[in-house]
Amino acid sequence: MADHTPYRAIVIGGSLGGLFAAAALREIGWTVDVYERSVNELDIRGGGIVMQRDLLEAFRFAGIAHGPQFSVPSRDRQFLDASGAARFRQRMLQAQTSWNVLYNTLRTGLPEGVVHAGLALSGIEQDGARVEAILSNGERARAHLF
Ligand SMILES: Cc1cc2nc3c(=O)[nH]c(=O)nc-3n(C[C@H](O)[C@H](O)[C@H](O)COP(=O)(O)OP(=O)(O)OC[C@H]3O[C@@H](n4cnc5c(N)ncnc54)[C@H](O)[C@@H]3O)c2cc1C
Repeated sequence: MADHTPYRAIVIGGSLGGLFAAAALREIGWTVDVYERSVNELDIRGGGIVMQRDLLEAFRFAGIAHGPQFSVPSRDRQFLDASGAARFRQRMLQAQTSWNVLYNTLRTGLPEGVVHAGLALSGIEQDGARVEAILSNGERARAHLF
């Protein structure tokens, strides 16, 4: 959604939580800037994640599109012992996704210029209903929500 309301939010941290918050706020019309202290993309951080119904509902709420390759079905869980030998198998129909798939889906769903990599929050100043973020490069960013 384009930036239509006069409301501006600043999100600190461009990982899963921050990107989801940014997508959800944009979906209801807010202007959002995300500041992430890491200069690198974060898509090497995580492992597998069970795709619970809550996750799909959250993505729907935030208007985040995802394709059929978003998850793979799994039928069983296997429990291994310390040597790696299979000890127990349990029937459990689930869909599996991964941290990286979630991150990349959220990250590419945001337009250029929303995520500012390599900038950390170093301070906050509040003045009535407005908040000002002080960033590691000395810049200040104002917002209604922080
Ligand atoms: C190595 C690792 C692997 C994991 N793998 C999985 C997994 O496979 N599945 C799973 O469910 N969970 C996993 N987790 C748990 C993980 O905590 C969550 O999946 C998820 O990353 C939490 O998201 P978040 O946005 O709340 O926090 P985080 O991912 O911790 O993100 C916080 C972000 O804020 C940034 N930040 C912090 N302070 C500032 C500042 N002052 N200014 C700017 N930016 C700042 C950080 O750089 C960071 O990118 C893993 C955790 C780790 C550490």
